[in-house]
Amino acid sequence: QRPPRTQRCFTSPRGPAPQGLSPGQPIRVMQWNILAQALGEGKDSFVRCPLEALNWAERKYLILEEILTYRPDILCLQEVDHYYDTFQPVLQSLGYHGTFCPKPWSPCLDLERNNGPDGCALFFRRERFQLEHSASVRLAAALLKTNQVAIIQTLRCRATGRALCVAVTHLKARSGWERLRSAQGSDLLRYLQTASGGRQGVPLLVCGDFNAEPSEDVYRRFAASGLELDSAYTRLSPDGAEPPYTTWKIRPSGESCHTLDYIWFSRLAFRVESLLELPTAEQIGPDRLPSYNYPSDHLSLICDFSLLDPAQPGE
Ligand code: NDP
Ligand code: CA
Repeated sequence: QRPPRTQRCFTSPRGPAPQGLSPGQPIRVMQWNILAQALGEGKDSFVRCPLEALNWAERKYLILEEILTYRPDILCLQEVDHYYDTFQPVLQSLGYHGTFCPKPWSPCLDLERNNGPDGCALFFRRERFQLEHSASVRLAAALLKTNQVAIIQTLRCRATGRALCVAVTHLKARSGWERLRSAQGSDLLRYLQTASGGRQGVPLLVCGDFNAEPSEDVYRRFAASGLELDSAYTRLSPDGAEPPYTTWKIRPSGESCHTLDYIWFSRLAFRVESLLELPTAEQIGPDRLPSYNYPSDHLSLICDFSLLDPAQPGE
């Protein structure tokens, strides 16, 4: 018997939106590291999660259920190792356009039971957007290509004709690699600068598992880049701090509870309308993640943005 789905509520950081002043339908963005199937079963050693709870035949429906519960307009995923056999066909049939960029040397390939490399995937609702430009890039550090990738796309809103630039990435994991993450972040910022045309250019949305706490250099680089980016989830708390965790798991080395996942947005172009709250420690439960309740060790982040009128400055 499975426990019931974890219930999460949306919260509006600005209070209820003023009636009659809504600048169009908000754009819902979802960021989620879904946990690669091969890594979850073969490498991660989640000691408090029974292997049975990771069975792909069931877990894939929990991942899809989470996505379909919220029906994002833009969906950014990391650790996708079932793109071609699951997410691409299912989400395409539900009206999404998808792009996949595998990691060149995915750790999934080291495992006997793998389904190919994991990587980043970017989906958007075809009804709402049209693809103008797409680039899949391998992030570099000190001019050397690394094992981490990003997808950067320019989308045009069919209703308003306005363009926006969306990117998804998954930076190098583990402690000791802070300088590599920082270099990868700088490389990504360089691509974003080009794709968006800079500070007053095409509005930007950047989703990722940065594998970095807010105290890390790569986070500070994004916050102070000159592209005028803000992290959406800082709007969740009144003091403007990032949430206390976006991933929470128990490995043989102990409990690991960190804030590593972010949705960055152009603060001059977007307004955060609402955010999906994170589940409480109690809702997550004593065995943490993943679990029978929740299919990944990372929590999904969801933000509704409204695109401001270019004539009218934001917050
Ligand atoms: P990362 O260090 O970025 O991590 C890869 C994955 O491992 C991430 O999805 C990460 O998840 C997860 N992870 C993080 N911490 C742990 C942990 N403690 N236990 C288990 N999993 C963890 O890996 P790289 O992309 O740098 O790839 C490393 C792998 O790729 C190696 O296994 C290596 O064999 C292979 N490789 C091979 C090369 C070659 O030339 N043949 C070159 C480079 C790599 P999360 O982000 O959620 O923390
Ligand atoms: Ca992982």
